[in-house]
Amino acid sequence: MLEVKNLNAGYGHVQILRNISFSVDDGEVIAVLGSNGAGKTTTVRAVTGMLKPKSGSVMLNGQELCGKSSRAILDAGIIQVPEGRQLFTEMTVYENLELGAFSDAAKTKLADSLNFCYSYFPKLKERSEQAAGTLSGGEQQMVAVARALIGLPKVLILDEPSLGLAPNIVDEILTVAHDMAVNQGVSIILVEQDVNKALKTANRGYVIENGHVVLTGTSRELQNNEHVKRAYLGI
Ligand code: ATP
Repeated sequence: MLEVKNLNAGYGHVQILRNISFSVDDGEVIAVLGSNGAGKTTTVRAVTGMLKPKSGSVMLNGQELCGKSSRAILDAGIIQVPEGRQLFTEMTVYENLELGAFSDAAKTKLADSLNFCYSYFPKLKERSEQAAGTLSGGEQQMVAVARALIGLPKVLILDEPSLGLAPNIVDEILTVAHDMAVNQGVSIILVEQDVNKALKTANRGYVIENGHVVLTGTSRELQNNEHVKRAYLGI
């Protein structure tokens, strides 16, 4: 279980996150929702150690990770699929996937993990020798998700996986995320502007506005919340 408590972080003297708290159980999918500039990516960066928090706690199965290096946090099992995918476009699909196996355990299991990922995304097997930059946007997102899975995550963070993708590809990616939670016990943090899709996949959600968590509840509660309906679902 990941438990984030009272996380404060920002850039220089500008504080962006104010006492952000949330948790995700093993095998659970949570949605982190909010509009442009709300602080979602900053939250991800503070949790993964890409940005050093000013204060707070990031506990994974009882181990305090707040303030640790991004490498230590990766080694602990918090792996993200970054916004914009960040693939090595000149390298092949296979080479990009191989890079996901940074730990000894992941290296040992690489062949099994590749087969597992290819079973979810058969296209990646067909395209394994092709330069990643020549794939479609949806296929590149599949590579980014598969690369993260090859790292054997305990917590998988998907930052805006729907960005610029066709609805059927987004559904495919969210189905994989859901399966990883239900069948593999991975904790999934789904950061999304597409609130409708996110709440259909997640068990619970947190709404961030101006760096604060302003609402939290089950997906059903949030879908029925008047503020969520008005501000995010356009109902
Ligand atoms: P989006 O959905 O558009 O990605 P977001 O909710 O992820 O939005 P963040 O990227 O976390 O939002 O940005 C939160 C605030 O932090 C914004 O006001 C943004 O301008 C600011 N910010 C983000 N990155 C930096 C940076 N490197 N330096 C200074 N300010 C930043």
